Amino acid sequence: MTRHRSKPTCVYCGKGEGTTRDHVPPQYLFPKPRPELVTVPCCETCRRSQSLNDEYFVRTIAMRSDVDNDPTTKLVLDAVHRSFTKPQKIGFTRALIDSMSELPVYTPAGVYLGHASFFDSDLTRLCNVIERVTRGLYYHEYGARLPDAHRCVTYALDGFASAGSEDKGRVRQLFDQACLGKERTLGGNVFKYWFQSVVGPEPATLWAFLVYGRVGFVALTMPGGRGRG
Ligand SMILES: [Zn+2]
Repeated sequence: MTRHRSKPTCVYCGKGEGTTRDHVPPQYLFPKPRPELVTVPCCETCRRSQSLNDEYFVRTIAMRSDVDNDPTTKLVLDAVHRSFTKPQKIGFTRALIDSMSELPVYTPAGVYLGHASFFDSDLTRLCNVIERVTRGLYYHEYGARLPDAHRCVTYALDGFASAGSEDKGRVRQLFDQACLGKERTLGGNVFKYWFQSVVGPEPATLWAFLVYGRVGFVALTMPGGRGRG
């Protein structure tokens, strides 16, 4: 099958034409005036399907009690709170608040991360955003899409947990390991990431993300097909 190269391919689905640019990470994480952000080619379908997850991600992270006294985060929070008063947002807000509870938190792979006072957030939804961020930054850093034969697995770090556990320790170790790679900073402490290629029989990359200096995620890319691990 031939494909003419006049327009880049969507970084996420690899099928649609990259007719628009997607901000990586979501631009709403950053208070205005926003720094220059990474953008990657994206098709309209992927862009539309991602916007709700982005909104959820930013709200959930910004509303965590342990990040809301940070001055940068405060600006974002103010904007979040203002948007809550818009009539069309009330249902969404109500649903979020009703779901707030003390619940066990698991990573998408089922790793128990202890209890966290947190929205009954669909952690998978947060990690979907991180997966997309990883795919976008992979393209940005390596100059090519993550191959379709590779998958991306993401984990939430201990910001979501209070109790210690072996599994939590393993995720933490992964995070620390990732931090030995190249470091990038976007908008001061709003968003930092580290990445490295992992030497081994099969090509892999390891990523760490830190949002507002508090909320951490880890991502791994490796051969094994698309989809979640
Ligand atoms: Zn797409």
